[in-house]
Amino acid sequence: MRLVACPQCDTLHERVELTARARASCVCCGAILYRRGVLDLNGWTAMSLATLAVFVIAQGFPIASLSLQGREVSVAYWQALLYIWDQGDWLLSIMTGLFGFWFPLFKIILTLWAVRCISTGRIPGDFTIGMRLLHAITPWSMAPVLVLAIFVAVVKFAGMASLTVEPGMVGLVALSFFLTGLGRLDAHELWSLAERAGLVEASGAHGHGLACHSCGCVQGAPVDGHCHRCGARLHRRRVNVSARVWALVIAASVVYIPANVLPVMRIQSVLGTSDHTILGGVIELWRLGSWDLAVIVFVASVVVPITKLLALAVLMLFRRPRGARLQRQRTRMYELVEFIGQWSMLDVFVVILMGAMANFPGLMRILPGLGALSFGAVVVLTMWAAMSYDPRLGWDRLRGSER
Ligand SMILES: [Zn+2]
Ligand SMILES: [Zn+2]
Repeated sequence: MRLVACPQCDTLHERVELTARARASCVCCGAILYRRGVLDLNGWTAMSLATLAVFVIAQGFPIASLSLQGREVSVAYWQALLYIWDQGDWLLSIMTGLFGFWFPLFKIILTLWAVRCISTGRIPGDFTIGMRLLHAITPWSMAPVLVLAIFVAVVKFAGMASLTVEPGMVGLVALSFFLTGLGRLDAHELWSLAERAGLVEASGAHGHGLACHSCGCVQGAPVDGHCHRCGARLHRRRVNVSARVWALVIAASVVYIPANVLPVMRIQSVLGTSDHTILGGVIELWRLGSWDLAVIVFVASVVVPITKLLALAVLMLFRRPRGARLQRQRTRMYELVEFIGQWSMLDVFVVILMGAMANFPGLMRILPGLGALSFGAVVVLTMWAAMSYDPRLGWDRLRGSER
């Protein structure tokens, strides 16, 4: 019997084979445990190869070219990263480089490699390391956010210079769809495929009581405190949840102030120099007539971070168990916080893209401001805070109070 533990409430379930396009939900909290898509192993191999090809087009070709008074600049995303690095904004370049380029690339390569290992029936020794890495980088791979940022940058440039769309942009739009599709095959799903092929030990074969967060394997307490299937550190519940979440929530709230007050970018043109804050950018988009993008940027940059911080504070403050129905709502709230996590990175991507594209010495330059870096820090801190929270603790308390 293969077991699955619900990541939100830790209820154990027997894993059953689903029909295509079906999904299994937790009987206790309603969280989705696993799904069954339409692709088999060969299908997933083709999908990962196609995603890799689309990645090469998206990242290798220029995204757009901008022309101003006879001069033209066209940049690919990697060139934008190098440009920001050369300007001395190393932290910003590293952050956007990891989230927009390296992590999506690693995700594709690791998935492709794992699918190949499983379909050839040979699981190498470093499969465990690869899958732990895949599990760790997945929440930080932000290609769809980057695509939305490009649209915002294009609209903002509309009033300043003439812009032509290049193949890289089409590639990036395609990449975000492909990566979303490939995201269905996460580390837990890959382990489950290997299990089904009889290549690794089945979840639940060695007792139960603990579930590995990294590979999903249900097992009894191991002697050395590490998962005996993938080697990740095991803990029944996350430790120091309260102190860690509060520290991160407070730190994020503090950094949120400079992120909004300080300019995210400075535009130098023949008409003079102007500083732009996050809210200023939203108003500007509205004035340009793109009220839809203005709403998206407002939601991503203002509503999402505040919602995340408030939701985490509410989850931490009102912990007294008040019945299964409310506990289920709290679980949905936490899932929302996890889901919206990366979208606030939008404005940071917009700033570095605009900075790299509007490189017309003497005519116009756009420099990233300290606000952009602070905003990036807010996103990282809130995502980290959400990851430090353990939704299972609430269910433990509820079960304890019902006893
Ligand atoms: Zn559950
Ligand atoms: Zn494990």
